[in-house]
Amino acid sequence: MSTNPHQQAVEQLEKVAAHLRLHYDGDDQARFDAAIERLKEPDRLIKDTLEIKMDDGSTQKFTAFRSQHNNARGPYKGGIRFHPNVSEAEVKALSTWMTWKCAVTGIPYGGGKGGIIVDPKTLSQDELQRLSRAYTQLIADFIGPWMDVPAPDVNTNGQIMAWMVDEYQQILSKRAVLAHTTGIGENPLATFTGKPLSLGGSEGREEATGLGGVFVMEKLVEKLFAQQPKKNISIAIQGFGNVGYWFAVHAHQLGYNVVAVSDSKGGIYNQAGIDPEKAFKHKQEHGSLPQQNVQVITNEHLLELNVDILVPSALEGVIHAQNADKIKARAIIEMANGPTTPEADEILLQRDIFVVPDVLANAGGVSTSYFEWVQNLQGYSWPHEEVIRKLRPLMETAFDQTWEMHQRTHLSGRLSTYMTAVQRVVDAMIMRGQV
Ligand code: NAD
Repeated sequence: MSTNPHQQAVEQLEKVAAHLRLHYDGDDQARFDAAIERLKEPDRLIKDTLEIKMDDGSTQKFTAFRSQHNNARGPYKGGIRFHPNVSEAEVKALSTWMTWKCAVTGIPYGGGKGGIIVDPKTLSQDELQRLSRAYTQLIADFIGPWMDVPAPDVNTNGQIMAWMVDEYQQILSKRAVLAHTTGIGENPLATFTGKPLSLGGSEGREEATGLGGVFVMEKLVEKLFAQQPKKNISIAIQGFGNVGYWFAVHAHQLGYNVVAVSDSKGGIYNQAGIDPEKAFKHKQEHGSLPQQNVQVITNEHLLELNVDILVPSALEGVIHAQNADKIKARAIIEMANGPTTPEADEILLQRDIFVVPDVLANAGGVSTSYFEWVQNLQGYSWPHEEVIRKLRPLMETAFDQTWEMHQRTHLSGRLSTYMTAVQRVVDAMIMRGQV
């Protein structure tokens, strides 16, 4: 496999297509082939240089991207990342994976992703605001509730979305004046998700990714651990940030035995179980996970623990060719994006370790972004319970449909999930007559 992320996404698509092609006959096979070719590149790539005035009066240039991969199933959807490692290939790959993630959950979106090559820690708040506004100006013609709906990603947050909403609304108002119309014609709040609660954000967004993963785990347990009481099902979670923490809390509340958690400094293990809320409180008060009544372990050791379910929730590429044969878990729920390398994936498959891939496991976040968009379009905000009540069936149905594909094809969890997603996108393209 290539190390270029976009090339990786293309190779993955080709692998899925080789299996899926057999599901199409006659003329549809030619249409299928044409759709796959089209899906190898984004529909549109916006790339430009942004020039920002710095606080000291100088100017600095930053390269910015927005990749709109496919919108056959609905508006492009995906975050905006501010990071020094952002590249054209990365943005294109991430937008492709967003297309699959939205398709597998069945939410009516396509895939998009944006980014700026910048280390935001080197900028003041004013500089960050000017950069966010300049980026909005760059993409303003190509976004909107029915066209492309950006969101936060690595190093971007609700504050940055608030600046972008404001800039976008100003641009729309200026256009309305120039066109001698009274209305601004678009809905600025429904153009961005991941906004602060006080500015059209959704209840439940903070915990949505972790909780969505737990809903998926509940379904997986029905299939793989049916006769076992929850207290006997052990879980190790790598990463104790937004995703790992909420996964741990909800799993613990439901009665599962969370035996290990970790952060960037390392992990803790207790066969009898760890209370995630107590561990978090200790981390807040003392700056580290509690070290009493637990075995202190490394992040590498955590991955190799003798547990039922392993939940990588921190970094990409942590399960690789060198450690895949040491993993003892029966199933892996990929809450982080891309925690397993393609080489490791082959080894896990041979060892019969079931993997719920990231595009399904961590889709609770984008699903709640979808709920935010729906609320903004209605001008209505739902209480927390309603968001959660809607999230659960969405994640469960997504799991059931990919499991059904797995049963029918006997392919891996990852391949079955991708096949479900790619089939939906290709079918939408064929139905529209695009290919
Ligand atoms: P976060 O920054 O809140 O937390 C990351 C956690 O990983 C922290 O606990 C940190 O200490 C830990 N960590 C850092 N380096 C580590 C290392 N070397 N070993 C072990 N742990 C380490 O981030 P997050 O929002 O929880 O995101 C985690 C993963 O989930 C990322 O891959 C992200 O792309 C993915 N994800 C997040 C969301 C979301 O809604 N937040 C949605 C989809 C996917």
